[in-house]
Amino acid sequence: MADPSVASLGRAVIFLGPPGAGKGTQARQIAKRFDVPHISTGDMIREHIQRGTPLGQSARPFMDRGELVPDEVVLNMVEELVAQPGFPETFVLDGFPRTFRQAERFDEFLREHGRAEPLVVHFVVDTKQLLRRLTGRRTCSVGGEIYNIYDNPPRVPGQCDVDGGKLIQRPDDNEDVITRRLGTYIARTRLLVDYYRKENALLELDGLAPPAVVTERLIEMLAPAR
Ligand code: AMP
Repeated sequence: MADPSVASLGRAVIFLGPPGAGKGTQARQIAKRFDVPHISTGDMIREHIQRGTPLGQSARPFMDRGELVPDEVVLNMVEELVAQPGFPETFVLDGFPRTFRQAERFDEFLREHGRAEPLVVHFVVDTKQLLRRLTGRRTCSVGGEIYNIYDNPPRVPGQCDVDGGKLIQRPDDNEDVITRRLGTYIARTRLLVDYYRKENALLELDGLAPPAVVTERLIEMLAPAR
C-alpha cells in the first residue's frame, strides 16, 4: 500500500554503495511500496544496449569491462528523465551518481530546476560478503526481479517467483569483472560518501542485514526525514 509519508519527502533519495550492497533490491522495494519512480542507471543503460541504440552501443564496451560509462552520457540520461514535465519530486536513484562530477552536476541540475537537495542513504557492507552477493546474484529476464542463490533464492531454481521468467546471471557479474567493478567503487564512490557527508545529507545503513530488515530500516529512516 502506498504510504504518503515517503512520497511527500519531496526530494530525490540516492542509494549509495558498492555493487551488490542491496541498493537495487531495496530501491525496487521502496519504489513499489511508496509508489515513487525508481531510476536505475544500470538498468537504463542495459535497456539501451538491448535496443541497440547509439547510446547503448557507445556504453557497451565500458559496461562489459566493468568500467564506468562516461559522466556526460549518464548525466544526460538521468536529467532528460527527471526534467520531464510532471516528474515527481520524490524518486529513488540507484547506481547514480557514481562519480564526484555526477554528484556535483546533479546537485546543480536540482537547484536549477527548483528541486530540493537529495537525501543520501549509504549502504555499508564488507568486501568478502559483496563477492558472495555478486557471484550469487540472478536477475529475472522478464521483470528484473533480483535474487541471490545463497541468501534469497527463488522458490524454483532458475525461475522468477513473480512472473516465472528465466533467471539469468548478468555478464558483468563474473568474478574478474566484479573485482574490477569493486575497484572502481573503492576508487570513486568513497569520494561521494565524503562529499555527501560534508553536505550533512548522509544516512548510513548496515547493508548486511537481511533484506526485509533493511527495508524496514529504510522506511523508518525515510519517514521521519520529511
Ligand atoms: P549497475 O547495474 O548499477 O551495477 O551498473 C552496471 C554498469 O553500468 C556499471 O558497471 C557501469 O558500467 C554502468 N553504469 C551504471 N550506472 C552508472 C553511472 N552512474 N555512471 C557510470 N556508469 C554507470
